[in-house]
Formats: sequence, C-alpha cells, structure tokens
Amino acid sequence: MSLLMKLQGYLRSLRQYLATPKGSFDARDYLKAAGLMLLSMAALAFVVKLFLGEWVMKGIGIMGGTFDPIHMGHLLTAEYVRDAYGLEKVLFIPAANSPFKLEKKVESAEDRLAMTRLAVADNPHFEASDIEMRREGVSYTSDTIALLRARFGPDVPLYFITGADAINDLPDWHHPRELLELCHFIAATRQGTALDLPKLRAFFGALCDAHIHELATPELEISSTEIRARIRQGRSIRYMVPESVETYIRKEGLYRCVME
Ligand code: ATP
Ligand code: MG
Repeated sequence: MSLLMKLQGYLRSLRQYLATPKGSFDARDYLKAAGLMLLSMAALAFVVKLFLGEWVMKGIGIMGGTFDPIHMGHLLTAEYVRDAYGLEKVLFIPAANSPFKLEKKVESAEDRLAMTRLAVADNPHFEASDIEMRREGVSYTSDTIALLRARFGPDVPLYFITGADAINDLPDWHHPRELLELCHFIAATRQGTALDLPKLRAFFGALCDAHIHELATPELEISSTEIRARIRQGRSIRYMVPESVETYIRKEGLYRCVME
C-alpha cells in the first residue's frame, strides 16, 4: 500500500473517530489516532531535516597554498568566492611540503601556519587548518581532500579555490580524477588567465563541466615572492598583508635571508 493510501486511511479513521459519539469508540480507534500522530510527527521531522539538511550542506571552501606569507590576494579571493557561493566557511590550509615547491626553501610550517591564523582571525567564516602539517611526506591535495571528505561526510560540497592556471595543470596533479570526483574546483580567473576547457574536457570528460567552475575575481597583483623580495630590500609591505601578519614577520625576523 502506498504511503498516500495509508495516510488517507488514517485520515478516514480520524474523521470516524471524531464523528463517533463519546463512549462508543474502542481501543482500535485510539491505536489509529496514535498512529496518525506518529505519522504526522515523522512528516514534520522529515520537513525539518530537509531544511536543516540544506543549511548543514552549505559548501566548504578550501584555499590551499604555501602561504609564505599569506597575503591580501589570498584573502580577497577567498572572501569573494565565499560570498558568491554562499559558503559556510573557507579553510586555509598551508602546505607542509608542496609537491610544486619541494626544491624551494620556505619558512617553517609553524611560522606559515601562525601567519595564516593571524590573517584569518577577524573573519568568522575563515579558519586556518593544520591538516597538511600533521602529515609526513609530500602534501598531495588528493590526500587532503580525501581526509576532508571523510571529516565532513559525503553530502557537504567541497570547493577547492585556486587560479585558472593551476587548474589547467590539474591533469598532472596526483590522482587528478579521484580528486575531481571528491570536490569542486573554483577557477578564480583573473585577467589574462582562462581555463583551457578543451584540454580539461578531453582529460576529465563530463566531470569537467560538472565539477570545474569559473569565477571572475577582482585582481590584486601581489605574490608572496614579491613580498619576500620587498622585505629583503627593506621596502614596505603595508596593505599587502594584514597588519598582524606584518607585525609577526618583523617580530620573528622572517625572510631576511631567504634564498630563492
Ligand atoms: P609564491 O609567489 O611563493 O608562489 P603566491 O603568492 O603565488 O606565492 P601561493 O601560496 O603559491 O601564493 O598561492 C596559493 C593560492 O593562492 C594559489 O591557488 C594561487 O593561485 C592563489 N593566489 C596567489 N596569489 C594570488 C593573488 N594575488 N590573488 C588571488 N589568488 C592568488
Ligand atoms: Mg604561487
């Protein structure tokens, strides 16, 4: 019997129960009325779960990088994407050992994490995560996303935020197909960089259009490389990084003698 027919049956019983003169109903009527109440409560719980589920399932943004140091370009892009996609929060994940920077000398993981924490402290939607720093070896994004997928469950959409140029190289990343199945990619396109859709479609097939999204973001032409160079040259980095990050860099004497 379909759910609808059952519901109609219960409604009929309730009508009969209400129409029955007092004193002439039996235990079966009580049982049917109780059943109807239970059914109504279940329906209510279902509707509440539907709305709550939608609320809980708001996406999580993931901003990965070396963050050596984190700068306004990272923060602006993350906030822009968070707003555009209505994300619950954005996790900033400094890479412990980025596969793209294995040969480069970077500041210690602790310093990069500390600066990231300071930079996101005043935004309730931002959070610094040490998930990559707690792992040994190369920090592959596919491993990180698999861990986050396990942590947040199968229903929460994960959005990895990165530049279009990085996404064009996605086929060369570690386990690219598995990675793209687990999360969405937001290509923050700045002027001059566009997604190479023919290449990405050829490699990923239908998954490309389903899981790779383009978003034109405002351009802040700063890079950590430039910030490090400016510090070495004794030049100002004010407004390029949050004030708290600059204070930390000066206090700890970072980047004074970094070899590129
Ligand atoms: P470096 O100069 O050392 O390579 P970076 O400034 O490129 O540093 P990363 O930590 O390498 O910063 O980048 C992390 C992420 O931030 C990447 O996805 C990158 O595309 C993005 N990103 C870097 N600079 C900017 C910027 N100015 N605006 C928006 N996104 C940026
Ligand atoms: Mg870079």
